[in-house]
Amino acid sequence: MTQKIAVVPCDGAGKEVVPEAVKVLKAAGAPFEYESFQVDADSYIKTGVAITDEVWKELQAADSILFGAVGDPRVPDPKYLAGVLLRLRFELDLYVNLRPARLYDERLSPLRREDRRKVDLLVVRENTEGLYVGMGGRFKKGTEDEIATQEDINTYRGVTRILEHAFGLAEREVVMVDKSNAMTYAGGLWQERWKAVAARHADIKTRHLFVDAAAMQLVKDPSQFDVIVTGNLFGDILSDLTAELIGGMGIAPSANINPTSGRGLFEPVHGTAPDIAGKGLVNPIGAILSAGMMVEHLGHHEMAVAIEAAVESAIRAGECTRDLGGSLSTSEAGDAVVKRLKD
Ligand code: ATP
Repeated sequence: MTQKIAVVPCDGAGKEVVPEAVKVLKAAGAPFEYESFQVDADSYIKTGVAITDEVWKELQAADSILFGAVGDPRVPDPKYLAGVLLRLRFELDLYVNLRPARLYDERLSPLRREDRRKVDLLVVRENTEGLYVGMGGRFKKGTEDEIATQEDINTYRGVTRILEHAFGLAEREVVMVDKSNAMTYAGGLWQERWKAVAARHADIKTRHLFVDAAAMQLVKDPSQFDVIVTGNLFGDILSDLTAELIGGMGIAPSANINPTSGRGLFEPVHGTAPDIAGKGLVNPIGAILSAGMMVEHLGHHEMAVAIEAAVESAIRAGECTRDLGGSLSTSEAGDAVVKRLKD
């Protein structure tokens, strides 16, 4: 059965890396039908609408969305980001954000100690609550009496379901990360749900870390981690850190999914990379690995394994972009993966 993929490169680096991901999916023989949609800063500037109603219907109807990156220096308006990526995450209820980090080649590790370099972990980030819901306000704006609030939303249901999902993914251990010593109300709920959910999974080892200690441990010895589960903000921050442990922003993939409805949006962790976008310099591997996660999510396990193996082989051979020590352009780096899938 053909599955329908909505392709949304969006802005900046997204426009360069998503075509490479599609190229790789085609070479892997994925049974997908692709439809591209223009959701980007150019149309937002023209129309003031982030996603039109017609496009929204199509995105909702697709089996999965392959996404690039959103943002543009010409559009500082936070409504644009909220109207694209946050809307998709929230309204499709994509409450699980999976951000795996795997070191494909020793040379990409920034760590000096060889015995601690090995990274094969998964950050499971809550994706629909926390500080990202856009609740709050600014009172007496622009005056010296100004007060700004930003609400951190944590629900019993939301916290419980992300914790439950993390246990289903762990092989060795689940580490829950929060800041419950300082943020006692939200942290209190996380702690209570954590204890209750952990009790239902006595076969998996558990550990709790405050976010500051987690950041420190991730740099000190990332090889200790299997699954890390945490809230929206801490997950966002820690997954940039874990990306740097495996070669940088260009390589890290992510999946936004709802395990119940089956809906999913797959995107590289990086943003629009305005400093290097449009010059053939951006690394397409984060997008390609995200496409691999989509393939896995849509039930094609062997194809997903083949894509990851092709990526690993290209990286090890140095057939990659400059950020990973190679000399290839974005599309040549995509070709290096394609070539291995065809061999
Ligand atoms: P945005 O505002 O869209 O989040 P940003 O520059 O703040 O953009 P990223 O796009 O994630 O954040 O980029 C952070 C850094 O990582 C930049 O120096 C960028 O050049 C680099 N980077 C991001 N994506 C890639 C990529 N695909 N390949 C190589 N380098 C990248």
